[in-house]
Amino acid sequence: MTEIPTLEQLHALGAAQQPTYDDPAAVAAAVTRLRTMPPLVFAGECDELKAKVAAASRGEAFILQGGDCAETFVDATADNVRNKLRVLLQMAVVLTYAASVPVVKVGRLAGQYAKPRSSDKETRDGVTLPAYRGDAVNGFEFTPESRRPDPQRLLDVYHASASTLNLVRAFTTGGYADLRQVHTWNSEFVRNSPVGQHYEAMAAEIDRALTFMQAIGANPDEFHRVDFYSSHEALLLEYEHAMTRTDSRTELPYNVSAHMVWIGERTRQLDGAHVEYFRHIRNPIGCKLGPTATADEALDLAAKLNPTNEPGRLTFITRFGAGKIREGLPHLVEKVTAEGVDVAWVCDAMHGNTFETSNGYKTRRFEDVLDEVQGFFDVHRALGTTPAGILVENTGDDVTEIIGGGEELDELGLAHRYESVVDPRLNRVQSLEMAFLVAEMLRR
Ligand code: PEP
Ligand code: MN
Repeated sequence: MTEIPTLEQLHALGAAQQPTYDDPAAVAAAVTRLRTMPPLVFAGECDELKAKVAAASRGEAFILQGGDCAETFVDATADNVRNKLRVLLQMAVVLTYAASVPVVKVGRLAGQYAKPRSSDKETRDGVTLPAYRGDAVNGFEFTPESRRPDPQRLLDVYHASASTLNLVRAFTTGGYADLRQVHTWNSEFVRNSPVGQHYEAMAAEIDRALTFMQAIGANPDEFHRVDFYSSHEALLLEYEHAMTRTDSRTELPYNVSAHMVWIGERTRQLDGAHVEYFRHIRNPIGCKLGPTATADEALDLAAKLNPTNEPGRLTFITRFGAGKIREGLPHLVEKVTAEGVDVAWVCDAMHGNTFETSNGYKTRRFEDVLDEVQGFFDVHRALGTTPAGILVENTGDDVTEIIGGGEELDELGLAHRYESVVDPRLNRVQSLEMAFLVAEMLRR
């Protein structure tokens, strides 16, 4: 493995989706400071996750990756993090029962602050300003001051990520994630919500399984704590490069700002800076593949990102859209599989299904999200390959950002509580509903 390239070398490759800072000295100062900060995760934990992703690629585990499209600093509160974690744990219990394998829990959190945008500028009422690129870059508020890219925010990302991850670690090891507790929340959902009632049968089955375990005196450690991993799109070269460290055990470089990092659909150019950076780090990594991705591109990416074909190293996160997955995915999976390439296939059921409503909201249909997951399972079952997991954008709060679902949210209802600063998220009830529906697909 060659030395990790310098930031300058990476930028020389023409990195896509980077902010235009107007104060290079301030950027350099932020990077210098970040390089001195303690790691947020340990390389050993990243290796542990890699082994679990490898298990998922063999069908011996199932990945649930979820959280915000874009975290914000103001929302990095205890309540928010707790709600997000709680709903992911609730989903995971349902999926574990249905899949009969461990669910690998990966949050889009503690670092998901930088966003790629389709346009560099945004115009409102004749005023044009830089597009919002996530709290890591600039503010959401539509004023020149707020939209100016501020390198100090890179340090804010570090601190917000550290406090979020600290809370997640405390919650997941300190009793909050107790299996019986999580199941009790699910039972409450089934009992108290009109939507939940449909899933009474499965909840009762889980209940019986837990009661049986208790009756025989089984009380393993796993009942009381869970492993939970962090992930984000590693988009901003300054931040990701500064958070890359040599692991003292192995002398190999890891991105220590998250357990898993992924390459977005807009930055996966084979000769681009992101692929070059990702090639050198040893974390488990993801790469998004949209409907325009060809099988040859996927093979070239795999050859470059995982030349030794290490299991668990590379996850292809497909995001075709419900209307395209059944036609587009088979060829990709078939060819990659035929070449003996070891990857985990995860279904991002969100990003191919986004559209704008007539009243100006970016949304998705719950039914499309589910249909894409169903298509994903159908394709893999037909080919005899392994669906390794799903990726969702969701929150533990009762927001109104995605239409449909058991509560039948419609376009007008979106205005009620639309809080996402980028993409629409499944709310708490939609997330749980999705878990039960995907559970039914897994059991078929
Ligand atoms: C995302 O995951 O929020 C995202 C921007 O996805 P993609 O790169 O697939 O568009
Ligand atoms: Mn998104």
